[in-house]
Amino acid sequence: MRLAFDARLVNPPFQDPGVYVDFRFEHRAIVFDLGDNAKLAPRHLLRITHAFVSHAHMDHFIGFDRLVRVCIGRHAGMHLFGPPGFVGQVERRLASYTWDRVDRYDVELTLFATEVATDGTTRSARFRTSTGFARESESMGSTCDDVLVDAPSFRVRFATLDHRTPCLGFLLEEKAHASVWKNRLAECGLRVGPWVAKLKQAVLAGAADDVFIEAHWRDGEGEHRRSVPLGELRAAVSIERGQRIGYVTDVLFHEANVEKIVSLVREADVLFIESVFLEADAPHASRKQHLTARQAGTIARLARVRHVEPFHFSPRYSEREAEVRAELASAFAGG
Ligand SMILES: [Zn+2]
Ligand SMILES: [Zn+2]
Repeated sequence: MRLAFDARLVNPPFQDPGVYVDFRFEHRAIVFDLGDNAKLAPRHLLRITHAFVSHAHMDHFIGFDRLVRVCIGRHAGMHLFGPPGFVGQVERRLASYTWDRVDRYDVELTLFATEVATDGTTRSARFRTSTGFARESESMGSTCDDVLVDAPSFRVRFATLDHRTPCLGFLLEEKAHASVWKNRLAECGLRVGPWVAKLKQAVLAGAADDVFIEAHWRDGEGEHRRSVPLGELRAAVSIERGQRIGYVTDVLFHEANVEKIVSLVREADVLFIESVFLEADAPHASRKQHLTARQAGTIARLARVRHVEPFHFSPRYSEREAEVRAELASAFAGG
């Protein structure tokens, strides 16, 4: 499988949470959470087009300032997403600095901030350097199903989880893509051409067999045109499911959360999930509204993800990292 995303933790697991996802075939990256990001080089921050903040506890949001600082004057803009109250939090963070010099920059930085409520309604606002990051263009909207971003090549889904305060979990999914077998087209007497894009679109959209596809191509003998029912072309197209990456942190282990997480990240290729405490400290984990490694491994197993990557370890286990990982692995394996 050709991997579209290269996802990695921003920091080692005892430090601030966050996952940076580089897109291999596009000049862009997205990031889950904006904790301390000193380990991300400016060139990495400058690739970010979307940042998804689970909640605004300091360890998940303190890196916002560095992101803005690096991007100002050099980046045209990005979209930021967070839980209820997030737009106001972005506004107040920006308002805490003096911005009297920013109009000198050639490149205007525009931040589009969106907060999403539990019922899927959204509130967005824009902040630009040229206006000193004043809040403007406020708008309300709603998400369709659980989709927060629907871009041409990827989607980001979300679930609102319970961490006493609302905390968002995310799933990044590459859209399915189709590829065409030239030799199978040739068996139907057809050649590839720009029309193949329409064929792929029709298959991906689930069009019926009796839909006609206009095939046209040019070769040494001139121009060729034929109208062919999709049913006759299906064998020439194969569909590959896209890569899927889940990100879940700062959640309490209870039935409603587990259900939502499992349905969000089901069969993901990789699940990044917090594993803050050992199961022996489960009552403390519950008071702190965090998962134990055993609980995280259990969720990953229930969701049948292919690979699980733990993070957000409590500093109390700084000498016991192997134990945390072993507990998660054993629960993931069903032990
Ligand atoms: Zn946290
Ligand atoms: Zn938190």
